[in-house]
Amino acid sequence: MKEQNYLDHLVGVFGQPVAENPGVVIQDAAFAAMGLERWHFLTLDVDKDKLEDALKGLKAFKMRGINCTIPHKIEVMKYLDEISESARLIGAVNMIVNDNGRLFGENTDGKGFMMSLESNGQDVKGKKVVVFGAGGASRAICVEMGLAGVGEIVIVNRRQDRALGDALVEILNRNTRAKVTYVDWDGPFAVPADADIVVNATSVGLYPNVDDIPNIDLDTIRPTMFVQDVIPNPTESALIREMRRRGIPCATGAGMLINQAALNIEMWTGRKPDKAVMYRALEEALR
Ligand code: NDP
Repeated sequence: MKEQNYLDHLVGVFGQPVAENPGVVIQDAAFAAMGLERWHFLTLDVDKDKLEDALKGLKAFKMRGINCTIPHKIEVMKYLDEISESARLIGAVNMIVNDNGRLFGENTDGKGFMMSLESNGQDVKGKKVVVFGAGGASRAICVEMGLAGVGEIVIVNRRQDRALGDALVEILNRNTRAKVTYVDWDGPFAVPADADIVVNATSVGLYPNVDDIPNIDLDTIRPTMFVQDVIPNPTESALIREMRRRGIPCATGAGMLINQAALNIEMWTGRKPDKAVMYRALEEALR
């Protein structure tokens, strides 16, 4: 007789707004392909002032873990038992593992970015990287690159948020060996000829503004450089389409998102999911 075990294993995402978060599509496809029928990913709308209650619920239901997105990534840190070094430096947690009631916080945004670079044969060690944007994604990316031994980072951001950029430069200079500089972005930006990697860490190009491209002098991006985008929706941004047309090596933010989700699954289940299955599910959902 078949073993009768109908216990559900729950993971998911706390956020608000969260209804359009495609995490469930990617994760459910991975669980199905792994034969983990009783693992479920829940998309949960959690009010800003109900986060503590939600975490009590997570423990009560013995959920294996949770992703946190806006507005909970920073607030959640005060309820955790342990936080990874990079998440602490980034100042935000986007995934939690529940080990028998003990909550461990990690930030997998920057790690998904590093995995994407790695799978495209890019090693940041000693390299010069130009990063557009100084928000949450940029912080995660810059901290991971700093910890991985990047040589130089040039952060380019609009003038109005100078304080954000300055704070990030200070964190990186204090905690990594990278040479980090900040540049105001007030016109079409010319990428320095000695840059190795160019990163769009802004939200320019995100759905529904799918034809927008960051204000970069695209002629200064050479085929010797590698361009990594963070935009996950559409799966191929206007910037990436343009890079492909020009023959510049590049990788999409969708790939970065899949890597991040795959890492979440590995940390929750102890098993590696099939990323191709996950990517197909995302493409299907965003079509
Ligand atoms: P934040 O709001 O924290 O930061 C947004 C950044 O984009 C800021 O630096 C902002 O500059 C800049 N920006 C926005 N509009 C423009 C513009 N028109 N011109 C120049 N700069 C602009 O958002 P996040 O960092 O959390 O997210 C950024 C993007 O990264 C989003 O599209 C998100 O979907 C994506 N992301 C992707 C992940 C993945 O796995 N693929 C993971 C995490 C995020 P300013 O300070 O001047 O406003």
